[in-house]
Amino acid sequence: MKALRRFTVRAHLPERLAALGPLSTNLRWSWHPATQELFGLLDEELWRQVQFDPVRMLGEVDPARLDELAEDVAFLARLDAAAADLDDYLSRPRWYQNQQAKGVSLDGGIAYFSMEFGVSEVLPNYSGGLGILAGDHLKAASDLGLPLIGVGLLYRSGYFRQSLTADGWQAEHYPPHDPQGLPLRLLTESGPQSSDGAPVLVHVAIPGGRVLRARVWIAQVGRVPLLLLDSDIAENDAEMRGVTDRLYGGDQDHRIKQEILAGIGGVRAVRAYTHAYGLPDPAVFHMNEGHAGFLGIERIRELVTTGGLDFDEALATVRAGTVFTTHTPVPAGIDRFPADLVRHYFGGDNAANESSLLPGLTIDRILGLGRESDPSVFNMAHMGLRLGQRANGVSKLHGIVSREMFQPLWQGFDAEEVPIGSVTNGVHAPTWAAPEWIDLATRILGPELVEEARGWERLQDLSAEELWSTRNVLRGKLVEEVRRRVRASWIERGATSAELGWTDEVFDPNVLTVGFARRVPTYKRLTLMLRDPQRLRALLLDERRPVQLVVAGKSHPADDGGKALIQQVVRFADAADVRHRITFLPDYDMSMARYLYWGCDVWLNNPLRPLEACGTSGMKSALNGGLNLSIRDGWWDEMFDGENGWAIPTADGVVDEARRDDLEASALYELLERAVLPRFYDRADGLPVRWVEMVRHTLQNLGPKVLASRMVRDYAVQYYAPAAESARTVAAENFAGARELAAFRRRVEAAWPSVAVLQVDGAGLPDTPEIGANLVLRARIRLGELSVSDVTVQAVIGKAGPDEELTDIVTVPMTHSASDESGELFVADLALPLSGSVGYTVRVLPHHRLLVDPSELGLVTVPNP
Ligand SMILES: *Cc1c(COP(=O)(O)O)cnc(C)c1O
Repeated sequence: MKALRRFTVRAHLPERLAALGPLSTNLRWSWHPATQELFGLLDEELWRQVQFDPVRMLGEVDPARLDELAEDVAFLARLDAAAADLDDYLSRPRWYQNQQAKGVSLDGGIAYFSMEFGVSEVLPNYSGGLGILAGDHLKAASDLGLPLIGVGLLYRSGYFRQSLTADGWQAEHYPPHDPQGLPLRLLTESGPQSSDGAPVLVHVAIPGGRVLRARVWIAQVGRVPLLLLDSDIAENDAEMRGVTDRLYGGDQDHRIKQEILAGIGGVRAVRAYTHAYGLPDPAVFHMNEGHAGFLGIERIRELVTTGGLDFDEALATVRAGTVFTTHTPVPAGIDRFPADLVRHYFGGDNAANESSLLPGLTIDRILGLGRESDPSVFNMAHMGLRLGQRANGVSKLHGIVSREMFQPLWQGFDAEEVPIGSVTNGVHAPTWAAPEWIDLATRILGPELVEEARGWERLQDLSAEELWSTRNVLRGKLVEEVRRRVRASWIERGATSAELGWTDEVFDPNVLTVGFARRVPTYKRLTLMLRDPQRLRALLLDERRPVQLVVAGKSHPADDGGKALIQQVVRFADAADVRHRITFLPDYDMSMARYLYWGCDVWLNNPLRPLEACGTSGMKSALNGGLNLSIRDGWWDEMFDGENGWAIPTADGVVDEARRDDLEASALYELLERAVLPRFYDRADGLPVRWVEMVRHTLQNLGPKVLASRMVRDYAVQYYAPAAESARTVAAENFAGARELAAFRRRVEAAWPSVAVLQVDGAGLPDTPEIGANLVLRARIRLGELSVSDVTVQAVIGKAGPDEELTDIVTVPMTHSASDESGELFVADLALPLSGSVGYTVRVLPHHRLLVDPSELGLVTVPNP
């Protein structure tokens, strides 16, 4: 008989072992090896069986064993040390507390919204890079002492688990997770004061007078709480219960309900949390990708219904404190809904009446936020950009691509001027560096710096022997793990143990090991390595200098194209002559990824440039001394320095994709044959001296740059602190700034059509001007209803192309010199900054002290040609 439902009952801990409770539920254990070892001591065999999950461990360990340990002096000493260490971690002043002492303030802190969070494999609430990044963001924020709250959904089945059929096709499974068996606690109205307060239920109105309710789980990620909304409760009808069933499953209607719950319900959950815990309201709301964009309209609703602001004033307030991060350079990857679907949920009988989803807001204003050129479409990224005064991409290259992609929202501005910056992603070192590296780093740096991931570059001080032996140990661990997983996969595919003797010999701990693991959208080109199967086979089977290749990745369940690519790799790797050198491991997740990053000598990445926004797996490999072999895309474009790995030349501009794949695959084989393999196998007394030097250089040069702590500090300094400051400024004195900014915006938008550049004269140049020569520009401007203080007038100078298009522009503010009946006169006296073919023009922009960027409102006037 099968159970209808399953739940977990935790053991009653003996009094003396009570500290195991918080040690198991605070996910800080997941990046603290000493705490993991402590749980292993409860029962080594069981620790493996429960897959290194402390909560499951406490559920399954024999109570008699617990009684025994409660008397075990050595164990108690370790327990007390771990408990004291956690207390210290949670209370010691960190980077942010030091910044505060210097006057930097994030006020009430940051609410960080994401549709997925990959904190640990025991909380499988992620599908890939976006979620892992969000998890690393929380952990680094915790390490830095940043006041941050994570917000997302708890999916009953998370993302799917992947296995293979006998013929190599991806099969998907959705095992349900019982929240009671996860490291979660319920948010109750009484917060931390008492354990028996009523659970908070967040309500969101749905058309037809229905209500979507969700309880709120809290996962404790070190110092950072992660709020996860869960609609699978008896108070909901069947359809509403299913809203949080799966990550990225279901149709558009399902998806919009999830995003409404995450965004609108998410803000309500934050309010309930800060209320129950007596905390201040967050100053900054960070949308990690557009999915959570509805949070902005919920905040507008709050301000309209209780703050006495109108829509524009509320929008100005929300914009000041909102940061939007875009993650996709592929227009097709952007989250869009049919406008009618948005109208259905936010308009009609769910429109601006008292019991509606967002009372006080009209559907037209909401639709306007997600508007794009096609009026039947609602674009979540456009909404993110309209709701956030600050926005960024996730690598320098992705910043450039995003400015181009979203340029149509800033008509009249060049792509370089689009107000989207970049913060390059990073990875959480204590999570992704092997325990061996952590031990070595602790020896050199001490535990505190390791915990804050500072000083990582000092691993360069290790001797070549130590570096190389660590690499060997980690490759050895990977080989063991590959054998275990290959065997399990074949058994799942229907093989019997008797025919699997060969799996004991799969992979060789002394062979150069290349890893390729990531989700399988087309642009990542999983099968590029198979472009010339004979050439690959020769590399794998080379007698003197072989390569072994481990491949993993999930395809979206609806993407049969991706599954066919996986099948192609699996079929190739199944062949008896190569299966000891190449393998596809099913079910790529954090628990597998770790071994790959630790053990692979080379991390391969060959996306179609520039479609990889950042990529983070190569950073995790680099932290472990892995060398990247990658197309110059995402992070690698800015961090490759010629000595920390290899850049696969791209055939940018070759339009025929098949030909481009041929060219790039051939470049990849060539690099392996000529550069990578010789360097790895060239030995002096067994030591690959030049290889180890590259490992050393990677640790020293990339170590400090690829860190999530660097990323979160960048966000804190460049985005959160300025956003908190803007939010404070517009909200002061009963939102005087927001009212003023909204009134200004309304006024300039209305008056802008009458603004014109009437006349421009240049004077002062000699006949043959040289760089630095003096140029005096005079412009006559008509301002219509606006006054001089409402605008900035700029001289713009740049290189003039054949079609008079200006590039490499420099702008110089012009000063108001006089008024007459035909307009306002502005003048600039400047030194020519460029040589060659130079051109100039003049433009008018809105000016207000509360704007962050002159392009912000998308208004600009240039002379008529
Ligand atoms: C890091 C990571 C990813 C993301 O890797 P990319 O290089 O960004 O594709 C995906 N899945 C897992 C399990 C990871 O650890």
